[in-house]
Amino acid sequence: MTIRFANPKAQYDSLRSEIEAAVLNVLSSGTYVLGPEVEAFEREFAAHCGAEHAIAASSGTSALHLALLAADVGPGDEVITTPLTFVATVAAIEYTGARAVLADIDPATFNIDPALIEKAITPNTKAIIPVHLYGQPADMESIAGVARTHGLTVVEDAAQAHGAGYNGKRVGAIGDIGCFSFYPTKNLGALGEGGIVTTSDAQIAERVRRLRDWGQEPKSHHIEKGYNHRMDAIQGAVLRVKLRHLDSWNDLRRERARWYDELLADSSVAAPQVAAWSRHVYHLYVIRSGARDDLRRSLVSKGIETGIHYPAPVHLQPAYADLGYGEGAFPLAEAATREILSLPMYPELTRSDVEQVAAAVLAS
Ligand SMILES: *Cc1c(COP(=O)(O)O)cnc(C)c1O
Repeated sequence: MTIRFANPKAQYDSLRSEIEAAVLNVLSSGTYVLGPEVEAFEREFAAHCGAEHAIAASSGTSALHLALLAADVGPGDEVITTPLTFVATVAAIEYTGARAVLADIDPATFNIDPALIEKAITPNTKAIIPVHLYGQPADMESIAGVARTHGLTVVEDAAQAHGAGYNGKRVGAIGDIGCFSFYPTKNLGALGEGGIVTTSDAQIAERVRRLRDWGQEPKSHHIEKGYNHRMDAIQGAVLRVKLRHLDSWNDLRRERARWYDELLADSSVAAPQVAAWSRHVYHLYVIRSGARDDLRRSLVSKGIETGIHYPAPVHLQPAYADLGYGEGAFPLAEAATREILSLPMYPELTRSDVEQVAAAVLAS
């Protein structure tokens, strides 16, 4: 029997009648883009994070793009982020015309190292994007300290960390701006594309709202050049249903992580390390192994799907060679990409699934 790496359909099946009622309600409402369901979702998501405002977008990438534009990031500016992230973080910086500057990770948490951010700052630095990778918050207090000293905006890439906590505060409400993705396999997933920007700064919220919908204010008066980065009404309605389950789904992910931690305690692989400040929500459960490729092959032969997030850091992806960094520029991120392996992790995974995966890891 195969153990799948992700299973977004299981979540739909468990809420089928509620989701279908919400979708049919949108279909008969006649409003298909933005509208009351999206507005209600924005209020509910903002409240969940503890931010004053939330502005729904068409994807996590467009949320990052809007956040940077609202922070006045543009040509001539530099934005510091991590090489160990999904390429969208860097792409969003490039969409604004700014330059992405990378700083290596803390290998214990896989997140950007605040001391290395400090070293990457130049007079052109405008913002920092910490990524809460795999569902664990970056060291936000240290990052906020660096940002304060140098007058920089902090944009959280929380695409993998819905509901994660840093010293009791929820991500998305820690930096100046937070960005989330609702890609179907994220901890909170739409039935299509979606994203959201969170902030407690009313001016930034207003700017993001305007840029999301062609820079109009009021309608048909385009006071600045904007984008079509709007959320569909159907996704808003689906996300309202699913948001009510996010906390319990995160609890189930944390329980599965505990099972893996216990079952793999005596193995040769390194389990994820959780920082003292973290409430980790395990978007991914990522182990390190010196024999990662052999381990992966052995798991595949037993029907266990795994992932690698990511097989190369952004600066070594062919499309991003023009960032200007070669091999060796970020040795800690590069070493991680040779050893990391993401095991199956989702709320619907059973105890016996986890035991089967752990037994296969121990046997390889
Ligand atoms: C998924 C993801 C994004 C992009 O979100 P989309 O909704 O796919 O555009 C950005 N950053 C990180 C870290 C992600 O995991």
